[in-house]
Amino acid sequence: MRRAVGTHGTLHRIEDLQKRHDAKQTLPTLLCDSPGCGASVKFVAEHGYIALTKGAEHQPGCRYNAPAHLQAVLAAGTDPDFLPPLGEGKHELRLLLLQQALKRGGGERQQTDLPLDGYLRTLADLLILRTMCEGDDLLAAQVTLRLGKKKVDWENFFYTQERYDAAWERLGASTTDLPMALVGTVRSHRASQPGTVFLNCAPKYQHTGVTDRRDFYEVSVGHADSAWLQSFPVGAEVVMFGLWRQGKSSTASRPHPTDTRRTITSITHKLALWPSFKRQLALVD
Ligand SMILES: [Zn+2]
Repeated sequence: MRRAVGTHGTLHRIEDLQKRHDAKQTLPTLLCDSPGCGASVKFVAEHGYIALTKGAEHQPGCRYNAPAHLQAVLAAGTDPDFLPPLGEGKHELRLLLLQQALKRGGGERQQTDLPLDGYLRTLADLLILRTMCEGDDLLAAQVTLRLGKKKVDWENFFYTQERYDAAWERLGASTTDLPMALVGTVRSHRASQPGTVFLNCAPKYQHTGVTDRRDFYEVSVGHADSAWLQSFPVGAEVVMFGLWRQGKSSTASRPHPTDTRRTITSITHKLALWPSFKRQLALVD
């Protein structure tokens, strides 16, 4: 959860709670902000999220009630080709269909491909749900990912900002086109080449342990439709799915601010997505 309400209905976002925590201010009593829920929640500073207090539960219709939502998404999205049931409420999600569609590419004609549109919508719903959970467990217990004959672990498919380096490594190590989902916070929109706009997410800064070396992992989405990318505003959390590409890494050096004998080297690793279908991006909030 990225926000909650105080007992008087004031909205509190994670960023504000973090600031208060850092300034050692008292945190307000927090409740779930989903209409009609009001479950008792708390800010967990170590992990930077809002979670249920011990023993509290979301109401059945609450937007944060992940198990109930998952059942609804699976019931609505069941399709023998894409999301066949495995029994006992479990399902298999076949990524090969999507991989092939993404390789063929989009264009407006295929935007009207109804089964594919349904698959992408179901996947986006599952990914949003996964983003709202604190780990893979709930989804992994109910939905088995499969790419052709191979089972794919959720941890090799879904990456949060803290694991952008793992996503980058996996792309580099793979010879096949692996569909992957990354979640990020929009940092900027930039038109860097004619006809293309990039949506850039807050990067991951990797502590390498090497003195004066900094590694960054940048995640960007490129598309010709600037208005569409702008519809994901700065600060919003987005989930981005598809066939990612490693961009060219760049290295920059600058003098150490206080020690002239030292040079700080920053290496930026890039991950880019060129969506064929607009459903490959979804707003989490
Ligand atoms: Zn709730």
